Amino acid sequence: MAGIYIHIPFCRKKCFYCDFYKTTAVVKKPLFLQSLHREIDLRGPYLGGEAVGTIYLGGGTPSVLTMDELNGIMDHLHRNFRVEQDAEITMEANPDDLSAEYLRELKQSGFNRLSIGIQSFSDGDLQRMNRRHSAVQAVHSVLEAASSGFSSVSIDLIYGLPGLSLQQWEKNIRRAVKLPVNHISAYHLTYHEGTKFYDWLKAGQLREIPEDDSLAQFEMLMDITGEAGFEQYEISNFARDKAWSKHNSSYWNGSKYLGLGPSAHSYDGGSRQWNVANLDQYIASTEKGDPDFEREILSETNRINDYLITRIRTVWGISLNDLEREFGEPVRRQVWQSAQSFIHSGHLMHQGDVVSLTRRGIMISDEIMLALVV
Ligand code: SF4
Repeated sequence: MAGIYIHIPFCRKKCFYCDFYKTTAVVKKPLFLQSLHREIDLRGPYLGGEAVGTIYLGGGTPSVLTMDELNGIMDHLHRNFRVEQDAEITMEANPDDLSAEYLRELKQSGFNRLSIGIQSFSDGDLQRMNRRHSAVQAVHSVLEAASSGFSSVSIDLIYGLPGLSLQQWEKNIRRAVKLPVNHISAYHLTYHEGTKFYDWLKAGQLREIPEDDSLAQFEMLMDITGEAGFEQYEISNFARDKAWSKHNSSYWNGSKYLGLGPSAHSYDGGSRQWNVANLDQYIASTEKGDPDFEREILSETNRINDYLITRIRTVWGISLNDLEREFGEPVRRQVWQSAQSFIHSGHLMHQGDVVSLTRRGIMISDEIMLALVV
């Protein structure tokens, strides 16, 4: 089952922590959409006729698009790809874009999953991040989505923000798990070069929170989501009732995916490619019928390490049998040997042919990944 990701590169304003490719030049929407349609037509053969089980509109802010614009994209996809009847079709949205009417129309158009960028339920933190919405709008958008018939709703949260107290973070998580959502993605703030937060950090205008506070916030996240019936199926992703994101799971399970739009990444099993992260260049090259992208053929070592790094983050863990089948017995032996000290220290567990992180292991997952890669 293959996946399609579409990057909608527009945001009405830029959040101070965000390093995704985006532009506030919303006026370029018509040109972008024309090029996106063209790219969809050109890339039809990329997935080799494989059925598409997941479509994900991310960004940027896909909810800046009107229903007509979204329907135009979906029509083009259906014309060029074999989309499964029960495909998971997700749209990322900002809370303040989700009016009752928009939600109803999204549902009618076949979108069956929403990923709402809430980040925090504190107005102070939202303002510090330069988010567009308020805490009230955040809650309202989720309730409205549920009453519009969306049974699959994910929300994003951020922790590790400068000045975020453990008490406020606890409030955020407790608020989140009480909402009608079946999925939470929670990420620690990263200071990416090119963002305002990064500049302020370098200029000494803000300070990273101490590592102990970060760990305490992460532990609290695991505790409260766990008590509320969420399973941590990936280090940063929590789902109730097995409502795992099919789209993300297919990345972690090595399925093919096609990325469309500026900066989008694709993977066909043997190579990775990524579109130019510049809207004007994307439009110009696609209009010429020759979309601008770079491509990397994956070596066997790349493929082994991709498998190890993505799978160890998930509840499915590393299957030693799969490793051997795909890459040979010496690779299985090497990974098994590297895992030994972590199994003895209680950071990894071994069940059947699967090696996976324990809760203690999740806390030092970067160190474990480094030790396992070949
Ligand atoms: S976090 Fe989302 S809304 Fe904010 S700038 Fe990044 S892509 Fe845009």
